[in-house]
Amino acid sequence: MSQDDGRARIVLALRKAGVTDPSVLNAIETIPREVFMSAGFEGRAWEDAALPIECGQTISQPYVVGIMTAALELTGREKVLEIGTGSGYQTAILSKLARRVFTLERYRTLLRLAQSRHEVLKLTNIVSKCSDGGLGWPDQGPFDRIIFTCAAPVRPDALLAQLAPGGILVAPVGAGAVQELLRYRLREDGVFEEEALMDVRFVPLLPGVARDG
Ligand code: SAH
Repeated sequence: MSQDDGRARIVLALRKAGVTDPSVLNAIETIPREVFMSAGFEGRAWEDAALPIECGQTISQPYVVGIMTAALELTGREKVLEIGTGSGYQTAILSKLARRVFTLERYRTLLRLAQSRHEVLKLTNIVSKCSDGGLGWPDQGPFDRIIFTCAAPVRPDALLAQLAPGGILVAPVGAGAVQELLRYRLREDGVFEEEALMDVRFVPLLPGVARDG
């Protein structure tokens, strides 16, 4: 299958799932996923699958990236925090749709690779750091949106505390191989609304910075 066919299939699947926001679909179509693949996997960039990257991690499945991005309801004005930079692919998509993206990764190797890809693509509204995303980024908060691209074992209270009123946090939550993708909204009156979106499979959020970090 050609790259164009792969892209078209992913966009079609997203439309079928109710993702109609043209800016989200456009970001998925225009960010070159092949740039984010690890050596040897470039040819498989437009398979709609999570694929292995360095440090035993994975680049997220484009369909799921689209669903999660749409769930954030971005307008272009938001300050977003991502937990789990990985390849930097989801970060790049977010950078097209938000004002500024902060991203945390526990592997320095992955962070450096992601940073160099963002530089090549001239994505200048991304700020990244090697640290334990489970603690969030309190100095930079509060955030209008927070997205986990690794699975939180339980409700991520430390990060919910870094959400601005009216904000949205999207995270896979669960300790097993399959997790529930949850969306939390912080109402202006301080109450959290919780909504289950779909079942997903993400690598787990691990504590602390990795040994290479
Ligand atoms: N968004 C990425 C997905 C990468 S997989 C992409 O599109 O490629 C999830 C990432 O979360 C992994 O790189 C893993 O190292 C990272 N991660 C896991 N626990 C973490 C933690 N506590 N802090 C920061 N990153 C973490």
